[in-house]
Amino acid sequence: MSRHQEKYREISRKIWEFAELGMMEYQSAELLERILEEEGFAVETNLAGIPTAFCGRYGEGKPVVAILGEFDALEGLSQTAGTVKKEKRQNGKNGHGCGHNLLGTGSLAAAIALKDYMKEKQMQGTLVYYGCPGEEKGCGKVHMVQAGCFQESDAVLTWHPSDHNGIEGKSSLADLNFLFQFQGKAAHAASSPHLGRNALHAVELLNVGCNFMREHMIPEARIHYAITDAGGSAPNIVQETAAVLYEVRAPEMKTAMELRERICRAAKGAALMTDTEVQVSWEEGYSEYLPNDVLNRVGYKNLLCLGGPVFTKEEEKFAEAIRKTYAHEGKETLRKDIEVYQGIGGCMPVSTDVGDVSRIAPVMQLYTVCCAQGTPGHSWQMVSQSGSSIGKTGMFLAAGVLAMTGADLLENPELVKEAKEEHSRMTRPYICPLGENGEKAGEGRHL
Ligand SMILES: [Zn+2]
Repeated sequence: MSRHQEKYREISRKIWEFAELGMMEYQSAELLERILEEEGFAVETNLAGIPTAFCGRYGEGKPVVAILGEFDALEGLSQTAGTVKKEKRQNGKNGHGCGHNLLGTGSLAAAIALKDYMKEKQMQGTLVYYGCPGEEKGCGKVHMVQAGCFQESDAVLTWHPSDHNGIEGKSSLADLNFLFQFQGKAAHAASSPHLGRNALHAVELLNVGCNFMREHMIPEARIHYAITDAGGSAPNIVQETAAVLYEVRAPEMKTAMELRERICRAAKGAALMTDTEVQVSWEEGYSEYLPNDVLNRVGYKNLLCLGGPVFTKEEEKFAEAIRKTYAHEGKETLRKDIEVYQGIGGCMPVSTDVGDVSRIAPVMQLYTVCCAQGTPGHSWQMVSQSGSSIGKTGMFLAAGVLAMTGADLLENPELVKEAKEEHSRMTRPYICPLGENGEKAGEGRHL
């Protein structure tokens, strides 16, 4: 891989510059597809009917090892690369505040290195690179799972840029997003208030109800909301419409769905109290992540074998400077250590659509240092670092670990068998977080 490093630096730089939002990553997807094709992968596009979802397949037969790549950016995070102060980039509105330019490219480098190895050793088995759009917005992998992607996979490998080096043994929170739209009646607020029905009041009552509900839910669950339509800015007109977007999280999808039902009942109550109408539409959802101990141990062995990343003095200096721009804890700025893998247990207070893939096939999730310790996620500091050489150092380490882990799995089918046995023992029946009652995402139904 080392002789191709320049090429991958360039790909990651380009995707960083494209900084395309979820489900609209046209240039990034095209670039990755083209490289896969040049490298002899059979490329399939438009997976799940999403123009930027694709896969590149190499080899034949079992086992099937998949590697996931992401490449979407975040809205409004325009920032110059490799700088230590907040500074908008010219001609750029968005930014890679989660480092997905590194994620997509590192996974591509891993897939190509593994393909070269398979070719050289004339190995049996199939390797699939999945280009997964819309991780930040759009829950691309959930749609891909629904369309049957990943079904053929015996093992799935992925990684994410981070401030530490390690293998994920924790689960994540299942997450559901749904929008309530209230419809009232406009009226002059002073001269004919009796004719009006206030939709904003309904939103307020719903929020008050849910804030009381917090006392009666499990402590690991989370409820967040944002008022997306306050019904205008004139207080002297009764607000005819109002909308609030809810997000609930819980360690299991079943619990998240129960909470959603309780919130729906509260919304119905708020509509009754205000004599308004309410519609709910499912927007997004992510299942909880199921870690796989067998795959994790293979990945951990390879991470230990390659060792922590090595940074230059300039990179250390740059990281020190950027670290001064946010509140932080911990001693080391750029961590070189590898966190001891503790086995499976616990739950991360975050959500990811890798969770949905993990319900279908065993997944190994790796982290490598691509930023200074404590860098806030989705921040200008992360955009700056994901465009810097620090990010690329972490990216190459990740690519190495994924490629070596893929090779181990292809060479030792019994490991794959064990990982699959563990998966079928541990997994719960998959509940798709979208389209309950036959609804499509974004399609409203009356409560
Ligand atoms: Zn991310």
